[in-house]
Amino acid sequence: MADKGVLYLVTTPIGHLGDMSLRAIETLRMVDMVASEDTRKTGHLLKHFEIGKPQVAFHEHNERKAGLRIIRLLEEGRDVALVTSAGTPGISDPGFTLVRLALEAGIEVTMIPGPCALVMAVVLSGLPVHSFTFKGFAPRTSGKRRRFLEMEKDSPHTLVFYESPYRVKAFLAEALEVYGNRRAAVAKELTKMFESVRRGRIEDQLAGLDDSLKGEYVIVIGAAECDR
Ligand code: SAM
Repeated sequence: MADKGVLYLVTTPIGHLGDMSLRAIETLRMVDMVASEDTRKTGHLLKHFEIGKPQVAFHEHNERKAGLRIIRLLEEGRDVALVTSAGTPGISDPGFTLVRLALEAGIEVTMIPGPCALVMAVVLSGLPVHSFTFKGFAPRTSGKRRRFLEMEKDSPHTLVFYESPYRVKAFLAEALEVYGNRRAAVAKELTKMFESVRRGRIEDQLAGLDDSLKGEYVIVIGAAECDR
């Protein structure tokens, strides 16, 4: 029986193509198949780095079925790379279910590390970074979002959130009600031409929001004890 293949979680740029690592390129050249969250987007990336490789779609709507198919390929000895739309697979992106299935099947899983918006935002925020809680995306509706924020009210950790440009304002307004006017940073368009990190308090962030409803945002909020 052939040896099993290896599952490589390959991190890709979150904006700047120059952040693609040599190991990421080499790995994508070497594997037999690329499992992609967005085959069109990954297709552009592969083309840019002149990598010709078959892709299989793997996204939140087919995670289980596609995951089992990918596991079969790995069991047959094929090496597979998982690439998401941007950044680190598994971080607010598909990845977890495939990692778990692979581990359960006794398949080796490794990772080519690289860009991750939350790491960049929390480090650049100027808020304490020795201990932080990554909360990912808040629920979209106000009641659920409030409960989600309230859960962390007494947390001693810096809080990190991803948010869509359409909900940043509502998110910050609700965060102000729940946490008060704490220290906060908003990191926008990281690694891109119009990258910015605004530091201040939640009210400053609300006042400084532009109405473009564009871009990608990470919101970092200091713990209550940051102000004591
Ligand atoms: N896997 C990605 C990572 O490693 O950061 C995150 C994927 S998640 C679907 C997309 C969210 O990440 C965006 O809505 C935004 O909150 C954040 N994000 C991704 N790229 C970003 C960037 N260049 N600047 C700021 N935030 C970014």
